[in-house]
Amino acid sequence: MTDLKPLHRGRRAKIIATLGPASRDPETIAALYEAGADVFRLNFSHGSHDDHAASIAAIRALEKTTGRPITILMDLQGPKLRVGTFKDSKVVLRPGANFRLDLDPTAGSEERVCMPHPEIFAALKSGATLLVNDGHLRLRVKSCGRDFAETEVIIGGVISDRKGVNVPDVTLPIPALTEKDKTDLQFGLSQGVDWVGLSFVQRPEDVAEVRAAVAGRAGVLSKLEKPAALDQLETIVDLSDAVMVARGDLGVEMPLEQVPVLQKRIVRACRKRGKPVVVATQMLESMIKSPMPTRAEASDVATAIYDGVDAVMLSAETAAGLYPVRAVATMHRIVCQVESDEHYLDLMQAGLGQTEHSFPAAITAAAGQIAHTLEAAAIVTFTSSGSTTLRAAQERPDVPILCITPSLNAGRRLGLVWGVHALVGDFIHSVDDIGDVAVKGAQRCGIGKDGQALVITAGMPFGKVGSTNMVRVVWIGGETKAS
Ligand code: PEP
Repeated sequence: MTDLKPLHRGRRAKIIATLGPASRDPETIAALYEAGADVFRLNFSHGSHDDHAASIAAIRALEKTTGRPITILMDLQGPKLRVGTFKDSKVVLRPGANFRLDLDPTAGSEERVCMPHPEIFAALKSGATLLVNDGHLRLRVKSCGRDFAETEVIIGGVISDRKGVNVPDVTLPIPALTEKDKTDLQFGLSQGVDWVGLSFVQRPEDVAEVRAAVAGRAGVLSKLEKPAALDQLETIVDLSDAVMVARGDLGVEMPLEQVPVLQKRIVRACRKRGKPVVVATQMLESMIKSPMPTRAEASDVATAIYDGVDAVMLSAETAAGLYPVRAVATMHRIVCQVESDEHYLDLMQAGLGQTEHSFPAAITAAAGQIAHTLEAAAIVTFTSSGSTTLRAAQERPDVPILCITPSLNAGRRLGLVWGVHALVGDFIHSVDDIGDVAVKGAQRCGIGKDGQALVITAGMPFGKVGSTNMVRVVWIGGETKAS
């Protein structure tokens, strides 16, 4: 086995890069990875299955050359509501004008357009607000029936083909997965994606439905972007494997001044439960067109990192922007700078309180404490399912977390998680082997030097999920320094 490149990232929080027309060729995917992308997001609101299959093939080929698991997140479109098309692809709506939404598929005009979602007409009430094109246009429902809504334009502007529609006041009677989502999901799972992002979660039942469809073949990441989901936040987090603060739609559905507060509330709820949490959308938005972000954007990324998120995400910046690789490199530099602040770990842990009282939690907390006291090179976690490693990450220790797993799938999934570097190796049968395997693993990854400690956690018997019950210290170079 060849040695791997040292852990060149030198960073704990992970970076998710969305692929799209600006970045889905194999050379750019490799360049994004080199610049710091840990997770590649495939946005199924755009692109064909052929596009996504080609991206997945390129990522898996890159994984072979790097020798490190690389993570793929498929993001389902979800029940995103959209208008149909217009005669000349767009019209301008004037404030005070009447505008009708209906089920007629013919091209729209200044008077009407198709909204091909009959179930929404059934749920609308007069007085409800419809937001179009990320909230740039606002319509108020004056009257509605089974197949139409008559609205008044409150805030006007340009409305063009297939623009999104949000209905913030109404919990919509729609299933979590559309027919398109179901087809996309089966395609993604057959291609071996690691995470499935579920858009527009409204209720815990939505997550349960998708969990049943995914059946353990990928992690389920719930995107929080509907006000209704926040009423049952804790239950939704408990049911999910990870969560995304999807600030784009969240900021349309809720007054935008609430978004920063909700971001912190969601991040805290996830961290308390040890669920990976991602902050997404507009993080370096100006880099879609500019080689430099604004200072405010740099600060936004930094805030998420100080809050202790597992990952920060780039969307259009890498999918459709002019500087995809530069956007990742810039985000990498901002994250590294925050993580090198001497107050970073303290600030990140502030106000989080106690984690739960359980045997695995106690063992993991002890491992973090030992690693800190011994100035260890790493915490090494042995895991089949990933649960021992997730536990270690929940503690946010001040040393890297090396995960050694026989499961390529577990290693790939953990790419989303704070501080974790996964190494896929053979299944360990005997506890006697773990010291040697840990030291060899650390050396392969360029972690630590002779004489430094490695603090190992694992669950006995190996292979039993959620059984973290062991902590052990070994020394790189073999010499025992304990006295
Ligand atoms: C968002 O709304 O912030 C988001 C991440 O979802 P999407 O990009 O799929 O709209």
